[in-house]
Amino acid sequence: MWYQIDMRLVLCLGMVSCLAIFAQKRTVFVITDAEGVGGVCRQDQTDPKDQEMRQLLTGEINAAVEGFLVGGADEVIVWDGHDGSQTLSTLTIHPKAKLLMGALGPSMLMDRHFSAVAYVGQHSKANVRGGIMAHSYSSLGIQNMLLSGKPVGEIDVIAAMAGHFGTPVIMLSGDQAAANELHEIVPDAELAVVKEGVGRYTCISLSAAAAREAIREAARRSMSKIGTIKPYIVSGPVTLQVEYTTRNSLPVDAEKRAGAQVVDDRTIRFQGKDILEVWTSYRSR
Ligand SMILES: [Zn+2]
Repeated sequence: MWYQIDMRLVLCLGMVSCLAIFAQKRTVFVITDAEGVGGVCRQDQTDPKDQEMRQLLTGEINAAVEGFLVGGADEVIVWDGHDGSQTLSTLTIHPKAKLLMGALGPSMLMDRHFSAVAYVGQHSKANVRGGIMAHSYSSLGIQNMLLSGKPVGEIDVIAAMAGHFGTPVIMLSGDQAAANELHEIVPDAELAVVKEGVGRYTCISLSAAAAREAIREAARRSMSKIGTIKPYIVSGPVTLQVEYTTRNSLPVDAEKRAGAQVVDDRTIRFQGKDILEVWTSYRSR
């Protein structure tokens, strides 16, 4: 613990807000998903009631929580982010973590200004070669998602929302494709790669024990980056273009949505001054 305090003293040198640094509780907000968990490689394993997946995911989350706490976190809030928030349980989550259950709303709760955001079990965006079960928010419903022209999935959108509120992403665990995706936008984030995608449903995975060890260490190391790692900023004005799948074409009143422009029968584009504005328009139906 001593070196934590030393680190903050070092950061304090030359900064006006020393008191703020010392007073601020260090809260890590952990975004969780199933498709990027070690040992999860088939679609049927992502059923929220799948007992093996639950154990694998919970084990990885708890390893991350341990790492964050050893690294100096005061509080770790874990969001049950997979498929309707019905996979995790307070019976099995790390005793010192808090479990956030339910939908987050347009700001993703980032207006709470967490000290840092991390991903556990993360998959890559849609259409990535070698991305295990790669998708952008919905495998069945969404073909492609573009943020200011760039193809994105959960990694970019969540990082951008966190960045909008000044919060950096410090760590990710998931498959190699997801790790690459975060590294493109946050080169200094700590990564724990738990599996490699040979194809969409073909993977080479670490054992659960090895995956947990890698995640624990990445989480511990990432804590020392709070204060130096930069929040990811998508500068405004921002566009969000969502291309749905054919079966999920736009409803008849799509043109009437605020800030929306219908591109074709299954593509809609939102414009706004920043990520919060476009994401709010997209999410309000
Ligand atoms: Zn997902």
